[in-house]
Amino acid sequence: MSAVTTVELPGLTKVATGKVREMFVDENDKSSLYFVATDRISAYDVVLANGVPNKAVVLTQLTAYWFNVLTQPGTLPSSVGPLSTHLISLNPGPTTKLTDAERALLRGRLMRVRRLKMFPVEAIVRGYLAGSAFAEYSSKGTVHGEADAERFPAGMVRCQKLPKPVYTPSTKAELGEHDENITRAKAAELIGNPEQAKRIEELALAVYTAAAEHALKRGVIIADTKFEFGLDEETGEIVLADEVLTPDSSRFWVADQYEAGREQDSLDKQYLRNWLVAEGLKGKEGVAMTAEIGAQTSKRYTEVYERLTGQTIESALAKLE
Ligand code: ATP
Ligand code: MG
Repeated sequence: MSAVTTVELPGLTKVATGKVREMFVDENDKSSLYFVATDRISAYDVVLANGVPNKAVVLTQLTAYWFNVLTQPGTLPSSVGPLSTHLISLNPGPTTKLTDAERALLRGRLMRVRRLKMFPVEAIVRGYLAGSAFAEYSSKGTVHGEADAERFPAGMVRCQKLPKPVYTPSTKAELGEHDENITRAKAAELIGNPEQAKRIEELALAVYTAAAEHALKRGVIIADTKFEFGLDEETGEIVLADEVLTPDSSRFWVADQYEAGREQDSLDKQYLRNWLVAEGLKGKEGVAMTAEIGAQTSKRYTEVYERLTGQTIESALAKLE
């Protein structure tokens, strides 16, 4: 099984390339977006030269799984109201612009989504104090520029569980730049509309809380995660977009190995990170994984999917067109 690091679809127009995904539109119907994941992977902030076989399928099918769970009645508190997501279909649909080979390549990696006007913030929710939030807390006593003894009590240790989940937004950096942690007030300013800012915070917290509970029952801690929301300019709805609650957008820890006060191993990328460090390749550009490291990392991504969903990837793929 080989990894797919670039996707070209000559019948469609490529409108954007992210770190992991390629986005296309059909010139005859620009309302939907062909949101295609590749197997590219980053570690220590650098994209590796080769990809992880099947990673795109895991990210796409896990996102679809969560969208389904999150939109079931009763998953979110009724006070939050219904959640809308950007997913239209996991199949390419009737477009005549794709060859059979292209349809085969897209199988499992594609989401046809509503094309939204994305809000310029990353809606991060944290249940635990890790990563850049812990670094800021221990050096300055603030988290995303905010000092709030109720949200962030004094004396917390690395990876400690927060009293309750917190919404800690960041900017959405351009390709090659780093996201910057910001206050909720600054995020509201970037969003430009206080009601919309409030709704994004409310939805992000509700989705995280429901997902964290779901994952914990399956032995996984979602320490933190990043959502992206967009505006449907036709309906005015705020829509949950992008990938959700995947290993690329979240910190997943094994619950029964969790211990506050130290770094936790990442379920999916630790094997790759350990190899990079051991080989003196941490943070270097253009590094290619060995076939063994790629295969082992692929296996771990697949295990994350199976643990969280209780299903195999094959069973998810079998439901596609
Ligand atoms: P990272 O996820 O690592 O921060 P990235 O943002 O470059 O990097 P990709 O996943 O490669 O991530 O690209 C996805 C891009 O698509 C993001 O810029 C995201 O904002 C955008 N996007 C997601 N959903 C939609 C949508 N429904 N309509 C328009 N753009 C979307
Ligand atoms: Mg992304």
